This record gives sequence, structure tokens and C-alpha cells, in this order.
Amino acid sequence: MQRQSATAVLSILILTAGCLTTLAIRPRAQSPFAAQDPAETHSGQVEFLVRMVSVREAKFLRASPLDASARLIPCHGCSARRTESLVELRASSSDVIAGQSSGTASVTLVGAWRICSDSGRIVNSSERAVLTAELDHVDLTLAVPEEEYVARVLASEASNFRSDEALKAMAVAVRTYAVRFRGRHHTQGFDFCDSTHCQALRLGSVPPRFHAAAQSTAGQLLWYGGSPASTYYFLDCGGTTEAAGQDWPERSTPYLVAHADPYCVLHGRADWTASLTHDEITQALAELKIQTPAAWSAITIVSHRPSGRVRLLKISGATRLLISASRFRLAVNRAMGEKIRSDLYEVSEREGQFVFHGYGAGHGIGLCQKGADVMGISGKTYREILAFYYPGTILGTTSPEADATHQISQSISKR
Ligand SMILES: [Zn+2]
Ligand SMILES: [Zn+2]
Repeated sequence: MQRQSATAVLSILILTAGCLTTLAIRPRAQSPFAAQDPAETHSGQVEFLVRMVSVREAKFLRASPLDASARLIPCHGCSARRTESLVELRASSSDVIAGQSSGTASVTLVGAWRICSDSGRIVNSSERAVLTAELDHVDLTLAVPEEEYVARVLASEASNFRSDEALKAMAVAVRTYAVRFRGRHHTQGFDFCDSTHCQALRLGSVPPRFHAAAQSTAGQLLWYGGSPASTYYFLDCGGTTEAAGQDWPERSTPYLVAHADPYCVLHGRADWTASLTHDEITQALAELKIQTPAAWSAITIVSHRPSGRVRLLKISGATRLLISASRFRLAVNRAMGEKIRSDLYEVSEREGQFVFHGYGAGHGIGLCQKGADVMGISGKTYREILAFYYPGTILGTTSPEADATHQISQSISKR
């Protein structure tokens, strides 16, 4: 977010019983994390910096201590102090300087706090939380220990899993994904956002079974060629997974290949139907700045990928528009919600609407969550589940001596 003025002032209000103290502070030239190694932690264990993009629209954050563990670090380099006060941090474009300048636009909270935003988001945090004021919004970033991060992601991304073995497989996939893609938001000063762009995570209380799945696989990663694997996952492949190279040629790798999945279709193949009007499609594409042909009247499938998913669509009118199925799906789903759940479909025209009838949900690359859950219920171990969806990868555990060194402990055989 671009700052509007070097002289503009942000304010942190520290509210005490019957007493209001205003610290006038200038925006920092850079992120509070910029001078900090993302791997740096207080305890030496691995933790991830997770930005709550879900509070991005907020204009203020208000934190209240939950118990005696609550500590406030009012500025970078300041020592932690015990507090029973409310802390409020507010974005402001005011150029009035009141009180004294502290030279920082962020405060750090440690211990147990309840953090609310004006956008209605409430976070009960027991992790280190950094509240940062920008001119037009406030940011909340949590430093989440690795296994806590895994459990919180499981509680969000795998909340409906019935099988504990499948949950353990997901725990390894979530952890490996995090280590592999850590720092993808590094230029913004954090490791991950809390949306599905990275991995969604639950901020409230996490049921014990998700912690158990994380702890029973603690530190285990999937490796390929000496590096953590790209452990993508998705909801339901509809019977056939997809090769990474189809959508992302640069990510082509031997363990992300198309193969039949008999597990997610064991009890039937779940289908979906989306009916879209001419105007809805035109509008959805326009929002991605894709111009549809004048007086267009037909959508046809031009080509398929080897997995059976649609590769290319043609929209015909006065001229023709060729568009990849993945881009078409992105446009429709951004504009209208998850209408087109996968690229595995047929399209027809009925009563003035374009009807997409398909199977599965998600991109299809990597681990199929529905299939993994069925495998677990069928008695497969988490190692067998991982071997099925990431063939040729190697399972390894984290060395307790050095968090950067993950020692190979056991090879997973190829399918
Ligand atoms: Zn992200
Ligand atoms: Zn599947």
C-alpha cells in the first residue's frame, strides 16, 4: 500500500482506566519485519509470520488482555511490559501531531489477547501479534509456531475429514507446502496471508484432533531431489488428478502427474451444474478485462488435456475468442462465487442459458482431499496416502538440532 504523505501522522491510543494517552507517531519507512530475518523467533523454534488479510479493510484494531500473561511492547526495541489496559491502534491521515513521537507505527503484543477490528473480525491470540498502522488501514500479523500453524490450517482446510490418517497426510502436505513456499510475501514483510491464496487457517480455538495430527507428524516433510516438495492439494479430482505441467509448465515435476483416483469416486462421482446467462459470462470476463466478441452466441470446447479436463474454450460471435478453461473459470468464480468448480465438465445450451455439467472441485494437482479421506477410512496409512498422491517423494523428519536441516528418515516407495 502506497503511503500518501511523509508528514502524515498515525496514532496509537493506549487506553487505561479513566486515562487516555495519545502517542503521535509517523509512518515507518518500511515494514516492521523488514530488518528482521523471517526465521527469527524468540524461542528458536520455527514460526511463520501470517498476515490477516481478512482484517485488511479495518480502520482500527482494539486489543484487550485476556489474562496476566498479556504483555505490551510499545515500540521496536522497547521492552515488554505487563498491562491491563486496552490498546487501540488506528489508521489516520491526520497531520496533527499531539503528544510525543515514538517513531513507530506498530505495537507488539505477547501473551493472551483478544483483538477486535472495526470490520468485525475477532482474534483470540496467544501468539506474538504485531499491530501496524498504515495511513488508510491497519494490519495484524501473527507469528505462528510451525506446528500450531499446521493445526490451524488443518482446522480450516481439512475441517470435514473423517479419517485421522488422512488428516496426518494433510498435516505433512500443509507443513511441506509452508516450508517450500515460506516467504512468498517476503517483499510485503510476512510469510503467508491467511486466505486460500496461501493456506487458510482458523483463528479461533482448534479442536484437539487437528493438534494431534500435527503433533503425531511433527517436523515431517516430503522431499524430492533434496528440496521440500510442492505439495499442492485440492478438494476433489472427480476421478483423475492433473499434471502440474498442464497449467504451470515451470512447475512440471515427476510427482505431480495425472493418474486415476479410484478412491474419491468409490461411492459415486459427485457432480455439479452451473447455469450461466450470456450477460453473466460477458460481465465476468469484462471484469478481468477480457472482451467477448460482439453478438456472441456460442461456447464450445476446443481441446481437452490428457486428464479429460477442458484446456481451451471458444466463444463465437462476430469474431472468435479463444480462452483457456482455467482463465474462464477464474473469471466466472471471481465474479459469481464458486460456480464452475473444476475444469472437468461438458457445456451445452439450454433455454437461453449456458449449462456447465462437471465433476470434482479444484485444480486437481497433488493430493485429492476427498480421495485421501476415503483412503484413510479404508485403512490406508498416511504414508500410503502420501505415496499415492505424491509418488516418488521421500518422507523426512525435522532435526531437533537445526531447524533448517530435515533428515531423511524413510523413503516412500513409488506407486
Ligand atoms: Zn498469500
Ligand atoms: Zn480424487
